[in-house]
Amino acid sequence: MKDLYMRGNVRDGEKYSKIDCPLCGSSDYKVEYKTKNFIFVRCNECGVLYQNPIPQTNFIQKRYDDKYFEYEVENHKNFFELQKKTLNDINIEKLAGGIKGKKFLDIGCATGMLLNHFKNLGAIPYGVEICTESCRYAYEHFGLTLYNGTLENAHYENDFFDIVHFSHLIEHLEKPIEFMKEVFRITKRGGIIIITTPREDSFWAHIYKKKWRSLIPDHLILFSRSHLISLVKISGFEPIFEESWGSIPLDAKLKFLKPFSDRFAKKFDRGDVQCIVAKKV
Ligand SMILES: [Zn+2]
Repeated sequence: MKDLYMRGNVRDGEKYSKIDCPLCGSSDYKVEYKTKNFIFVRCNECGVLYQNPIPQTNFIQKRYDDKYFEYEVENHKNFFELQKKTLNDINIEKLAGGIKGKKFLDIGCATGMLLNHFKNLGAIPYGVEICTESCRYAYEHFGLTLYNGTLENAHYENDFFDIVHFSHLIEHLEKPIEFMKEVFRITKRGGIIIITTPREDSFWAHIYKKKWRSLIPDHLILFSRSHLISLVKISGFEPIFEESWGSIPLDAKLKFLKPFSDRFAKKFDRGDVQCIVAKKV
């Protein structure tokens, strides 16, 4: 079995632009990891790790095309199982005060497998997905009508959702703060959000350095735990739960260490994937 992370998604003819720090707006940085596919820099003001330059917006969106869909379909069962396990682990049912009748939004919901699962549990499902082929798949296989586009363009009502979930999405965004403010606007008071994203201040990220599995062209920003908490708080939410897991990729040379290292990562909260649950109070 191959690791689920994509190694590269740079396309021909992409135009790049320099950006300021997506978290604090500073233009002061130092280069941290440079390869032929990306340059990750660290903000000298807030310390967050982000790509600079990045592809211009229309080129970013073009990456989530038919080729991306093939990758999604190839892996969606594995993604679904991992997401389901995470949500069981954090006891979403308890954190959300039940699932039945709750408005559940999955942003970047891909082929809709997780959304379909929550529909079957009695939630009212809503999904946002940028990849058109994935939306078609969700409709044909699960009868789900997704919003095909970005969250900002979906224009949901204020205080609408009980549960907002986005897994491995925030690191792909050019403007994570604007996105989070929109999430805050559409979440009900008392509602929760669940974010899963790579964790940059993890044990194996430090060991692997520029070969860390999450340093890929599609990831525009990578959060440490404290940066993720800042993002959540800046946008108005209150964090209520955090955890991390994951260590060595399945196809790594050191994979014989994986069972031990995965247990260590989870137990001591040093994994390279993190999940944070936050509440709109
Ligand atoms: Zn910054």
